[in-house]
Amino acid sequence: MKTVFLFLLIFLLGSSCASFSVCCGWRFAHSISLFVPSSFCEHCHHRLKLYQLIPLLSFCLQRGHCFFCGQQIARTSTVVELLFGGYSVLLFWHANPISFLFLFIVALWSLILSMQDYYSRTVSATFLLGGAFLMLSISFVVQKKLLNDWGIILPLAALLLLLVLLKKMGSADLYYLLFVMLAFGTLATLFTCLFASLGALCFNYFSLKKEIPFIPYLSSGILLFFLIV
Ligand SMILES: [Zn+2]
Repeated sequence: MKTVFLFLLIFLLGSSCASFSVCCGWRFAHSISLFVPSSFCEHCHHRLKLYQLIPLLSFCLQRGHCFFCGQQIARTSTVVELLFGGYSVLLFWHANPISFLFLFIVALWSLILSMQDYYSRTVSATFLLGGAFLMLSISFVVQKKLLNDWGIILPLAALLLLLVLLKKMGSADLYYLLFVMLAFGTLATLFTCLFASLGALCFNYFSLKKEIPFIPYLSSGILLFFLIV
């Protein structure tokens, strides 16, 4: 019974963090401060009541429509809350408590970057680089190991840099992958690249858009990697 309660708490933590991440991404794209004004409807700009901020439950209680103006609530937030809540439970089940804490922070940081990229095709440089530096520092303390496969890392980094110079990949994608490489090693980087490329190909094969948000695909790759190693 205790375990079920704990998993439920982890699900709520994950879905609440996902709701916050979607809000961060949307506000970043619209150049709105993260804290002011408090949460509001995207259509009528009416300030939301407390119960309307509860992830998933608020969507069900309002039957998918804004209580004030009746407009349909964007599905993105609900889908991300559901997926990240479920992912958090799987990660908690898979990892030991210390690893879980670190990997959950990396996953949350990745999700916020993904939502920024999804909504605006760009990310906050400060959040990307500052977060990467902070988490690399924690990573060296938690994992207590230094990378030793520089023979693969350096050519791979050079290849990624070439892709950026040829404008086949964004610089934010490069920095994100360098973080993955330094924090989790070559296997994680290769898996992330492969998964992201296949994912982007599958979902955008018929798309005519020249530019697609790639960080959501990269994030999905490393998040999946956390579950299978
Ligand atoms: Zn509304």
